[in-house]
Amino acid sequence: MPDGAVETSTEAAPAAAGPVEAEWAAAVAAVRAVPADGRVLLICHVNPDGDALGSMLGFGLALRRLGVGRLQATFPGPFEVPETLRGLPGEELLVPAAEAYPDPDLVVCFDAASESRLGDLVDRLATAGTALVLDHHASNTRFGGVNLVEPGAAATSVVVDELLTRLGVPLDAGIAECLYVALTTDTGSFRFEATTPAVHRLAARLLATGIRPGDISRRIFDTRPFGAVRLFGEVLGRARLEPAAAGGRGLVWTYATLDDLARHGQRPYVLEALIDSVRCTAEADVSCVVKQIAPGEWAVSLRSKGAVDVSRVAVALGGGGHRFAAGFTGRGDAEQVVDAIRDQLDAALIDVRR
Ligand code: 5GP
Ligand code: MN
Repeated sequence: MPDGAVETSTEAAPAAAGPVEAEWAAAVAAVRAVPADGRVLLICHVNPDGDALGSMLGFGLALRRLGVGRLQATFPGPFEVPETLRGLPGEELLVPAAEAYPDPDLVVCFDAASESRLGDLVDRLATAGTALVLDHHASNTRFGGVNLVEPGAAATSVVVDELLTRLGVPLDAGIAECLYVALTTDTGSFRFEATTPAVHRLAARLLATGIRPGDISRRIFDTRPFGAVRLFGEVLGRARLEPAAAGGRGLVWTYATLDDLARHGQRPYVLEALIDSVRCTAEADVSCVVKQIAPGEWAVSLRSKGAVDVSRVAVALGGGGHRFAAGFTGRGDAEQVVDAIRDQLDAALIDVRR
């Protein structure tokens, strides 16, 4: 019985229904059907974060315990794991996308709301014997053969944990470290609204394996090169506050170019943490960081404190995400990208009278 099924009324109601029993059963059957010498390919979304990578590697370690012999884990785009996420247990399962099995017996996708997040690896959905999707985005398009999508879950790792329970794989320290990284990443270290009693119960079970939360958190959240500290200073220094935007709820935004990165000798992934400093702004409900990824192309991070459904903004502009944390790829210059966002904000205001 899943934890969620026995929740009391004091717990936050899930935003939408999770998988039905038949879907859990189909997922368990799909894993069990892999022959001993079968090939399993695990894929997480492009530009992987802690939930994507942690969920994938934690599941990979569990499959290894189950005796699945030929396992690969990968992600599309540049084969570069952010420094803060290096050294995770199971990292030896990672292979560059170009080396991924062309026609695995089973493919499992993690934390990807849509096929577009799988980049060039999207063809495996068709070439694999079975495609299993594990995710927690409300905007998930259910692109797998079997879809375990739990919009009420705080992280994809919550879905992974549930599937591992159903597969009868006990948690060990390696699996737990991966799932803990995933859970703390997506709950903002247990600060966000999705931090339910069930989340803390999962965290307790993970910690009971003996993993060290202080060491893990310092590595994942509280470590960056001095060059990145200086880069953050510069990029935060040019942040702009627009109190009238979003129906008067306020917008704060900044941008970083490839030239900024080069001047400070930094890799693009160091900017992932920047939104957490920008969204502190008291005078704005919505925060945004526009990060250049190529000439005229920007990865956009959006956050809201509750007045705006930023996933609506992101979906309208070709991306996706959650209600209060979303993103998309923007075109043009940074000002044009923010113009496009500003145009969508009023339509995405949440009616608080409901
Ligand atoms: P972040 O700002 O941390 O990169 O992303 C916040 C949320 O938005 C995540 O849940 C992520 O999956 C989603 N997201 C970010 N960028 C994109 C995008 O380009 N496309 C889609 N579909 N979702 C995105
Ligand atoms: Mn996630």
